[in-house]
Amino acid sequence: MIEINPRYCKSCGYCIRFCPKKVLAMGDERNRRGYFYPVTANAGACISCGICASVCPEAAITLPGKGECDNG
Ligand code: SF4
Ligand code: SF4
Repeated sequence: MIEINPRYCKSCGYCIRFCPKKVLAMGDERNRRGYFYPVTANAGACISCGICASVCPEAAITLPGKGECDNG
């Protein structure tokens, strides 16, 4: 299962758009910088493919055991 660090999120929505299992949805709470951030709306469907972590430009998503996204 993925972990989302709301602090880094800029609400771009890429992770939601590219998740093949529709696991993520934009939440209704803002982080400290004022950005809405995603939540795992359908966690049981996650296949740990890592796409969400790969597309996140802020490295806000990690997959425990698979290392952190390194493009941020
Ligand atoms: S790891 Fe894959 S299936 Fe799980 S939330 Fe991310 S993109 Fe979706
Ligand atoms: S891809 Fe990253 S920055 Fe964009 S909404 Fe998802 S967690 Fe936030």
